Amino acid sequence: MDLARFPRRRYSHGPTPLEFLPNFSQVLNGPRVWIKRDDLLGLSPGGNKTRKLEFLVADALAQGCDTLITCGAPQSNHCRITLSAAVKEGLRCRFVIEERIPGSYRDDASGNHFLFRLFGVEAITVVPAGTNMAAAMQQVADEVARAGRKGYVIPGGGSNALGGLGYVACAQELQQQCFDQGVRLDHVVVGSGSSGTHGGLLAGFLGNRFDVPILGVGVSRDPQDQAPLVHKEAQAVCDLLGLGIAVPLDAVTCIGGYWQPKYSVPNARMVEAVQLLARTEAILLDPVYTGKVMAGLIGMSREGRFRSDENVLFVHTGGAPALHAYERELLA
Ligand SMILES: *Cc1c(COP(=O)(O)O)cnc(C)c1O
Repeated sequence: MDLARFPRRRYSHGPTPLEFLPNFSQVLNGPRVWIKRDDLLGLSPGGNKTRKLEFLVADALAQGCDTLITCGAPQSNHCRITLSAAVKEGLRCRFVIEERIPGSYRDDASGNHFLFRLFGVEAITVVPAGTNMAAAMQQVADEVARAGRKGYVIPGGGSNALGGLGYVACAQELQQQCFDQGVRLDHVVVGSGSSGTHGGLLAGFLGNRFDVPILGVGVSRDPQDQAPLVHKEAQAVCDLLGLGIAVPLDAVTCIGGYWQPKYSVPNARMVEAVQLLARTEAILLDPVYTGKVMAGLIGMSREGRFRSDENVLFVHTGGAPALHAYERELLA
């Protein structure tokens, strides 16, 4: 598919590695597990939001905006990477932070919050759980406008049709790598949150006729709530590309049961997954997203969902800085 007609900034040096995980696969005693290293994307350190922001920031610059405004949770990777992009582009950046767990926002917190301050965020507005985030961000944009500046509002997770193009680009990159490295994938496992990654990847797979099923492991919702979001995102991305595809409902597969008790709150299977990948492959997962997603891959493998001769790809979406805000839980 031709993505070159969309303005894009570049924040990474080239394709992220597609690697086999020999030690982890052996310990798991299940399928052959591969990893797509999107934790090695640009923007210190990058993650899946880097790909979305390449398109979103290009649009902000095309519109002559000077301030990026976005939202997230207190340890948001998305906010931190948006801020990095702003720094690189010479833009300013403001956040609206939703305190989803009352009392969890601390001004001296470690992890991503520390990086918010180090990278020099201009302003943070903290709002209670359940706040209308779009309205709160618009308020910040109005404030910026009153100062004679121009804000660009990026939705939570950068998940709109334009941001989803980042994962269409990833789908194309992955398809080429599989061809170059002679890898035939049987399943892809990816995190599913604000849904731009899962939905964008699905749109890219459909548009390129890359016929590999995607399993989206929920990090904040069970399948009945998550699947409609992913379907909507995938359809919006297909429409933006003018593909003329109606995304089939059964192309969206969401996996539940691994995110509980709550978004961003640790559980034992996440801790096991983070420790196992660190101790077999020296790769860092994160406690909020990829640790729970890898717990899903491990769980599905133990349930016999994959054959031992199958190739399963884990998409590593980043997030390692949040480890430092959870050190005690991870070594308990
Ligand atoms: C945001 C995020 C996700 C979820 O991706 P969505 O596009 O929001 O569904 C997964 N992993 C990490 C590390 C993230 O920061």
